[in-house]
Amino acid sequence: MAELPRVIRDSESLLKDIYSTLAVSDDAQRRLSQPNTIIQVAIPLRMDDGSLQVFKGWRAQYDTTLGPAKGGIRYHPDVDAEEVTSLAFWMTIKNAIVDLPFGGGKGGICCDPKKLSKMELERLSRGYIRAIKDIIGVDRDIPAPDVNTNATVMSWMADEYNHIVRANVPGVITGKPIGLGGSQGRVEATGLGALKVLDLWAQRQQKKPQDLTVAVQGFGNAGYYFAKGAREHGYRVVAVSDSKGAVYAKEGLDPEPIWQHKNQERELKGFIYSDNSVSDEQEQQGSVEQLTNDELLSLDVDVLVLAALEDQITDENVANVNAKAIVEIANGPISRSADDKLFQREIPVLPDVLANTGGVIVSYMEWLQNRSGDYWTADTVRERLHERLERQSERCFEMAEKHQVSLRQAAYMVAIERLATAMDHRGTQS
Ligand code: GLU
Repeated sequence: MAELPRVIRDSESLLKDIYSTLAVSDDAQRRLSQPNTIIQVAIPLRMDDGSLQVFKGWRAQYDTTLGPAKGGIRYHPDVDAEEVTSLAFWMTIKNAIVDLPFGGGKGGICCDPKKLSKMELERLSRGYIRAIKDIIGVDRDIPAPDVNTNATVMSWMADEYNHIVRANVPGVITGKPIGLGGSQGRVEATGLGALKVLDLWAQRQQKKPQDLTVAVQGFGNAGYYFAKGAREHGYRVVAVSDSKGAVYAKEGLDPEPIWQHKNQERELKGFIYSDNSVSDEQEQQGSVEQLTNDELLSLDVDVLVLAALEDQITDENVANVNAKAIVEIANGPISRSADDKLFQREIPVLPDVLANTGGVIVSYMEWLQNRSGDYWTADTVRERLHERLERQSERCFEMAEKHQVSLRQAAYMVAIERLATAMDHRGTQS
């Protein structure tokens, strides 16, 4: 068999157990072992100085049994075919866990967006859509934001697609700005969805937010809305970090002024010295500190939230983890073998494939609104998001209890059960 994508290799033992517990058919196992489609494209970009650079991009559709492929587009210097394929596999699992009528896809461009001007970014984004236009579509594959892409990038992409097909098809891209077919609640959805999953889990454990301290690694869109919402729900957010470092206050931090500071300075560093939301008293008592990212990961907190990038907790640092539970908002922040060690230590992990589905769930709602032309209020979006997360999280929690497995394994079981059943219904010829 061809070399398997990394994510499948890493998940092999997890998948093997699931296949035997659920008696998954050989056909379904084979179908799941490789991506449906992956294309690599070259995107020529005329730079502002007149020179030409050619960027590499990809779009992977891992599986489309449950519906059109769905998943974001990432701009990052580390993006490659394998990463995009792995992320598309995760999207397949994620969409199945929360019972969306979507398969899994993911795209990316190998670039450093921080080194591009706004005009260059726009041309690159439009060029990417021209390059992948033949495999996307409102019923085929629906891209969305991911790391380093946002509503503005989505609006350029949607506009480019409309020009190509000479029609207004807002549903081909989700995560667009409100006013250009975007949905209420999409921007906050990933962070607030993760918070909802944490709330549900805490309730089941009979724990109250007021008694729980939280540290958040990663202060992008998802980390910020999670931290802000967590504070509003009564959790004590004691630390937040970005790639350059962390701030910590035993009494709790207010994420809002930190976010303002970060937006002005593009980093958290320096926050405690310039911000007046942290009372002088706290500062004088020395209770507000700067920490390194490593220190944040080893804090003795009730909940550690990983909202940065992949592979943050690995064999190298898993022994330093002192948190009592972990929430994954980023995709794949814990390596497979570190995950096993956390399970052995009885540190529950609310896995990415469940905890970060808020974004794609609201993307689904955006797609529905675009197709019907009927736009919903923020309250309707929130209610429907909560309702879906409640139903699907309970299913995962029950599966974990029934089979005495980790929440990750349980969530995968829910997904694979749905996927394998649908694959078997499809018959043998397609
Ligand atoms: N990129 C997000 C994710 O990893 C959202 C995908 C989407 O909305 O389609 O879930």
